[in-house]
Amino acid sequence: MGRPPSTRQLINWDHRHLWHPFTQMQEWVQEDPLIIERGKGAYLIDTEGKKYLDGTSSIWVNLHGHRHPVLDRALKQQIDKIAHSTFLGLSNPPAIVLARELIRIAPKGLTRVFYSDNGSTAVEIALKMAVQYWQQLHPEAGPKNTFLHLKLAYHGDTIGAVSVGNIELFHSRFKPLLFPTLEAEPPHCYRCPLHLTYPTCKVACIDPIEQILKARHRDLAGFIIEPLMQAAAGMVPQPAGYLTRIRELCSKHNILLIADEVATGFGRTGTMFACEHEQITPDLMAISKGLTGGYMPLAATLTTEEIYRGFLGKYDEFKTFFHGHSFTGNPLGCALALANLDVFRNEKTLVRLQPKIKLLARLLQPFQALLHVGDIRQIGFMAGIELVRDRMTKEPYPFQVKAGHRVASIARSKGLILRPIGNVLVLMPPLSTTVDELKNMMKILKESIETLQID
Ligand SMILES: *Cc1c(COP(=O)(O)O)cnc(C)c1O
Repeated sequence: MGRPPSTRQLINWDHRHLWHPFTQMQEWVQEDPLIIERGKGAYLIDTEGKKYLDGTSSIWVNLHGHRHPVLDRALKQQIDKIAHSTFLGLSNPPAIVLARELIRIAPKGLTRVFYSDNGSTAVEIALKMAVQYWQQLHPEAGPKNTFLHLKLAYHGDTIGAVSVGNIELFHSRFKPLLFPTLEAEPPHCYRCPLHLTYPTCKVACIDPIEQILKARHRDLAGFIIEPLMQAAAGMVPQPAGYLTRIRELCSKHNILLIADEVATGFGRTGTMFACEHEQITPDLMAISKGLTGGYMPLAATLTTEEIYRGFLGKYDEFKTFFHGHSFTGNPLGCALALANLDVFRNEKTLVRLQPKIKLLARLLQPFQALLHVGDIRQIGFMAGIELVRDRMTKEPYPFQVKAGHRVASIARSKGLILRPIGNVLVLMPPLSTTVDELKNMMKILKESIETLQID
């Protein structure tokens, strides 16, 4: 290897050879990309040595900051043993120990761990498990092979995950490839589809869901939901008690509840998992983003002993769950996930997070007075600020105005990395963000919204 390429060279090569996710490349190549070379704590550092606060936790994955010594060490120690061996027909220590630890911290009643590589695959696995479970349990009752999900849901980008998702912009193009599902209106208090107000509404948006479950339970394998907060929808929270009612209804109508905790898991909402807020246990739970503290791709689908037992049988009964990936149970990822849980314990991450959640709420208050701000939504250490053209009518900015994107560009020039969702500015800092760093992020964000000029 000769000298490392210069920033200019890297930019040229990026523009010539790469295709970035969720990116209009025609626009991408008109600007110089930021090329991140290093990180430290809540900061990202580019190839020119410039520092930026990581306001998105590198898209919702990082928990304890970049270059955490415990996580760095865990990776180095594991690599001195082995990087990868297959999980098909073999096992490995980090994957075994991690499964035990995950079951310890997961909602009570979840007892089995099935590994994969990312949030989308964890969801695919939950869907396939649910369908096969019902086939094997009551073959005579006919197929239970469709799913109910909320509108605005996001469960990943693979075809099964897209089928149970409903973000028009991402999904409409692929309709011909998707399997049919049932959809229900989500609770969205700022833009209530029923034009009611919480709490006098008595969460009336549950009623249509009850109707669907009652009418279609014979066809429904499961109800998949992002518990507490539909994150990719633009941080759309569910009112207290909503999840509990959904759990009750699923149990009553014999439908598996699939909790997609890919975004909400690992402390983001202030508890280890969002389901804990309502003390419910789903039948299947998908986890990924924070699982390795944001270091490596790893995911898991957790389930109950009841579902697991539904797959037991003689070899030639073919009740085996025929699903797996080349990197299932990857030892490096599992070693990092174990280190991640060590950090939670040793640093009392969740305890120390509580005052910072309150501080974030306090720092968000003054945003209400800003001209462009229509709504502010926060659960735990996840927050969304929705920009609107007219605060009275809640009229959104048209898509082509790119209001969120423009605020994010201003913020970047001031040293804060954000990734908006349409007109919603999303703030999801690492849990380890210090009080000063959080104040700094919010100061930059406020200045950036104030600077925004739209005619
Ligand atoms: C990010 C996300 C996914 C998809 O995870 P990937 O690792 O990007 O495939 C699924 N569900 C939710 C709730 C997510 O936020």
